[in-house]
Amino acid sequence: MAWALTPLTEEQRSIQAVARDFAATELAPFTEVWDRDSYFDPAIIGKLGELGFLGMMIPEQYDGLGVDTLTYLVALEEIATVDASIAVTLSVHNSLPTQMLLKWGTEAQKERFLKPMARGELLGAFALSEPDAGSDAASLTTQAVRDGGDWILNGTKAWVSSGTKGEVILAMARTDSPDDRRGARGISAFIVTPDLPGFTVGKKEDKMGLRASPTVQLHFSDMRVPGDRLLGQVGSGFIYAMQSLDNGRLGIAAQAVGIAEAALRHAAAYAAERKQFGKPIKEFQAIQFKLADMASRVAASRALLHAAATAKDRGEHITQFSSMAKLLASETAMWVTTQAVQIFGGYGYVKDYPVERLFRDAKVTEIYEGTSEIQRIVIARELYSR
Ligand SMILES: Cc1cc2nc3c(=O)[nH]c(=O)nc-3n(C[C@H](O)[C@H](O)[C@H](O)COP(=O)(O)OP(=O)(O)OC[C@H]3O[C@@H](n4cnc5c(N)ncnc54)[C@H](O)[C@@H]3O)c2cc1C
Repeated sequence: MAWALTPLTEEQRSIQAVARDFAATELAPFTEVWDRDSYFDPAIIGKLGELGFLGMMIPEQYDGLGVDTLTYLVALEEIATVDASIAVTLSVHNSLPTQMLLKWGTEAQKERFLKPMARGELLGAFALSEPDAGSDAASLTTQAVRDGGDWILNGTKAWVSSGTKGEVILAMARTDSPDDRRGARGISAFIVTPDLPGFTVGKKEDKMGLRASPTVQLHFSDMRVPGDRLLGQVGSGFIYAMQSLDNGRLGIAAQAVGIAEAALRHAAAYAAERKQFGKPIKEFQAIQFKLADMASRVAASRALLHAAATAKDRGEHITQFSSMAKLLASETAMWVTTQAVQIFGGYGYVKDYPVERLFRDAKVTEIYEGTSEIQRIVIARELYSR
């Protein structure tokens, strides 16, 4: 049912098949119970690491798989089709902290952090948001102050995906002083690890969906960060975070396409089985039209995502393209899962069938890595920037 809108190479098809098989054998039997128990299984990360899926876009020189963006996203969609929580764990790791280290890390930082992350031995997280700084992330208040060769960090980061298991956290903090605020230019990026004195994991969020992906607050209390943990230049951390989110949004779009594809498949299968008024409900034109619109929107979202991925691999500026892909795919996921629940009727509203979980999982794709409103702001702003 999934159309190959962008012709895939043999290598891309084979990595896609590996991801599909892994999802069917290692994830599908557990997705429902992990969702119910809000359980994150670290063993899965080790297994995905063995397949190279924790270093997909990292060059082989740094122990990664070295594949292009399209290959990564095709594999990610397969994982998301079965388990959106594992997909976001992969997406954050592959799109944000590892890419930041690859682009702006020193050779010593790559040796110490990037290589084990690419091998799947260390899981990455990304800590930009704070309790009072979400869409307006540049207003964050976590403060970093120099102390000899070290930095002392104080503040609270919010909504950190994989925060309980994250072993390498790229955290953004202010390095400007309270009497000389420099806005986005006053923010730097630090490589934080849970062993640092003053680091604690705070509240774990009890979420509507993505329940097998732990989302937590992190508290930094006089946390001493060695000087060699600064990433790149002082004052460039916000720019690094924004540039990385261009990658991240493609990952979230792939996650959303996977969720939507799964909802479409379940709804089509159920419509063929469920009989009312003496015939399968797929015989009713109202149901056919819903399925047709669902399939068309999934195909359009996937096509835009693949076009954005190939533009990135050609080295083009993809800020607008990536926001468009994320906006269309996430709103498609929410709409398609809503239609799927409708096609299931009452059975869509209970946990006996997967569309209830898919509906809950879809919602967050319209929220994180920039809400739909923020994506529209980015897309409109880019119309005038060139
Ligand atoms: C499950 C989950 C996982 C997450 N993982 C991470 C993570 O790993 N790392 C991380 O740093 N963050 C993470 N986040 C945080 C996420 O990126 C933020 O929730 C998101 O950016 C929105 O911020 P907010 O929740 O503070 O909402 P707010 O910014 O308070 O927005 C509230 C509403 O106002 C709207 N709004 C705000 N500003 C404008 C405007 N200028 N114009 C129009 N509308 C506007 C928003 O679109 C939204 O509808 C995660 C969030 C969730 C829910």
